Amino acid sequence: MKMIIASVKDGIAIDHIPSDNTLQIMNLLSLESHSENVIVAYNLQSKRMGRKGIIKIASKTFSQAELDTLALVADGATVNIIKNYKIVKKTTIKLPKIIHRIAICPNNNCISNFDASSKFIKNDAHTMRCYYCERMYDTHLLCMKKNHLAKI
Ligand SMILES: [Zn+2]
Repeated sequence: MKMIIASVKDGIAIDHIPSDNTLQIMNLLSLESHSENVIVAYNLQSKRMGRKGIIKIASKTFSQAELDTLALVADGATVNIIKNYKIVKKTTIKLPKIIHRIAICPNNNCISNFDASSKFIKNDAHTMRCYYCERMYDTHLLCMKKNHLAKI
């Protein structure tokens, strides 16, 4: 049975989100304060990944910082750009080799927490190394605090 999920006319649909991270993405991208329709579904059956989440956001484009944020918690997710109910562009989210500024080093003593200019180097699809303190972290731990994005 195929589940019908309401569409947006123009905007973005993020598909193949790891189901457990769906609400975290809502939070990280501050989507609860988006002024247009936001449609959220999770725990959906997926042949590819077991359970998945979907978020559709009307009248929205992503900045590079938002895409990098998404990569930290939804590597492998699909971002569909929608115009007039049709998908005009499909991109698979991949963790970039380097992430600047958007992530926060969990090491409280790390210099990047004082000059607010963090830098992480990709190790594999799920771990990154802090350029400054050289510790390795699971990407889930690097997500910036809520509303941090608005400041950069
Ligand atoms: Zn660090």
